[in-house]
Amino acid sequence: RQGIECLNVQYRYDRNQPIYALRNVNVTIPANSMTAIVGKSGAGKSTLVDMLMGLIHPEKGQVLVDGVSLMDDKRLISFRNTIGYVAQDPFLFNESIRYNLKLVDPNADDEALWKALRFSASEEFVRRLPHGLDTVIGDRGVRLSGGERQRIVLARAILKQPSILVLDEATSALDSENELLIQQALERLKGSMTIIVIAHRLSTIRNADQVIVMDHGEVIQQGGYQQLSQDA
Ligand code: ADP
Ligand code: ADP
Repeated sequence: RQGIECLNVQYRYDRNQPIYALRNVNVTIPANSMTAIVGKSGAGKSTLVDMLMGLIHPEKGQVLVDGVSLMDDKRLISFRNTIGYVAQDPFLFNESIRYNLKLVDPNADDEALWKALRFSASEEFVRRLPHGLDTVIGDRGVRLSGGERQRIVLARAILKQPSILVLDEATSALDSENELLIQQALERLKGSMTIIVIAHRLSTIRNADQVIVMDHGEVIQQGGYQQLSQDA
C-alpha cells in the first residue's frame, strides 16, 4: 500500500483532559494524490497533518507510511526529510533569494534553483529580479508582495523534490490572483508527489483528488470534491 494511512488515531494535547484533538480518525492518502483537508478553526486539521508528518505520535491507533509504522525513529527521520512544507506566513529571511532557497538544500546548484523558482514563482517574476539569484529581498532590497514571497517559499519547498508536499493554509492570506498562481503550480506538480492542502476556502481545493472534512477532531466526510459539493 503506497501512501499514508491513519488507523483509528486518537490524540490529546493534554492527557489529563478529556479533550480530543483527534478522535478515531481513519484516513488514507494515496501516494501522489492531492488531498485537501477542510473544516472550521479548531477542527483538528493541523493536528492531523502534524500526525501525518510524524511530528506527533498517536495516543491510540497508528500511522502507516507505505504500510510501515511511523514509530521507528530511523524511519521517521528519513521520512521527514522527504517532506516539503509551506505555512500560512511566507517565512523568508531578508537575504538573497539564493540564501533563502539554499536553506533546504545547501548543495543545490544554480540550475536547480532557477528551475524551482521558474516553476513556482512564474517566469515574469523571475525576469524582474534585478540581480538574479543574488537579489536581496526585504528591507535592504526588493520589496515583495505576500504572494510573491509565498511563491518563493513554494520554490524552496519543492527544491529537493519531496515525496510529500504540505501546504497549511498557504494561500489563505493571499488575493485570488496569487492563489491562482499557486494553484497552477500545484496542478503542474500533481501526480509527481503526494500533495496535502489544508484550506478553509472551497475554491482552494477544486483540483483535489479527495477532500477530508473535519469537525471537532473527527473526520465527518472523505471523498471526491464533486461528491462533497453535492452533499454541501
Ligand atoms: P485546526 O488546524 O483545524 O484549526 P488544530 O489541529 O489546530 O485545528 O486544533 C485542534 C484542537 O486542538 C483545538 O481544540 C485546539 O485548541 C487544540 N490544540 C491545537 N494545538 C494545541 C496545542 N499546542 N496545545 C493544546 N491544544 C492544542
Ligand atoms: P510583522 O507582520 O510582524 O510586522 P512581517 O511578516 O510583515 O512582520 O515582516 C517580517 C519581515 O519580512 C520583516 O523584516 C519585513 O522587512 C519583511 N517583509 C515583510 N513584508 C515584506 C515584503 N512585502 N517584501 C519584502 N520583505 C518584507
